[in-house]
Amino acid sequence: MIFLKKILIFLSILPLALPQDIFDPDTFPRPLIIEINEPHLKEVQLQCTSWRVAVEANNLSPWKKIPEECGDYVRDYMTQKGYEIDLQRVCNEAGIYARSVNMSGDGKIAWIFDVDETLLSNLPYYADHGYGLEIFDSTKFDQWVEIGMAPAIESSLKLYEEVLSLGFKVILLTGRSERHRSITVDNLLQAGYRNWDKLILRSSEDHGKTATMYKSEKRSELVEEGYHILGNSGDQWSDILGSSMSKRSFKLPNPMYYIP
Ligand SMILES: [Mg+2]
Repeated sequence: MIFLKKILIFLSILPLALPQDIFDPDTFPRPLIIEINEPHLKEVQLQCTSWRVAVEANNLSPWKKIPEECGDYVRDYMTQKGYEIDLQRVCNEAGIYARSVNMSGDGKIAWIFDVDETLLSNLPYYADHGYGLEIFDSTKFDQWVEIGMAPAIESSLKLYEEVLSLGFKVILLTGRSERHRSITVDNLLQAGYRNWDKLILRSSEDHGKTATMYKSEKRSELVEEGYHILGNSGDQWSDILGSSMSKRSFKLPNPMYYIP
């Protein structure tokens, strides 16, 4: 009897004495407490969501790369449904506004589109560079641009076609360099974009200016030329803030990089 009691005590403490990770939680015997790292994962998820909201609300100081702990979070956001749903929401709202604009007048009502992460997606490049975990390398990025294979952002293409059909003049205003004009035109055409009025790229005198300054100057020139800028789409706040701002601007999501 004493022997049997000892055996039972031994069997009852055996699971506690062995490492927990060798147990399948669905089979017996198993440890009384199974430690799952969920609270930590949930906290990281919440912190990274909070960080992304701060990015999109333009509440952060200039940043050069995404927080190390948010690498998986940003990858999942960009490659699963979150990014696509956010893009659709912004472009749908832009479309509702575009349809509400009174298009009568001199035919110079304009909609400005940025190019990278607005009309064209560089996700294939960023997938190879940690979705923003690496500090931006202009040499490597230029090599990607020169391939000319960036796919269209589908929600933007739909909006683009709609604003064109409504009678807006479409202006493309990009931080890409003038030396990439030809490949950018080829890439845009291959992605399905047509009939823009102007494609404005950085010329040599624009290098060294912040995007906010460069794009503000170009918008001012457009206004001087008689355009009425009533819509603007961009993935960076520097696409839409500054002077000669559009009547309405639409900020597309981009948690991978920040351009001042
Ligand atoms: Mg952009």
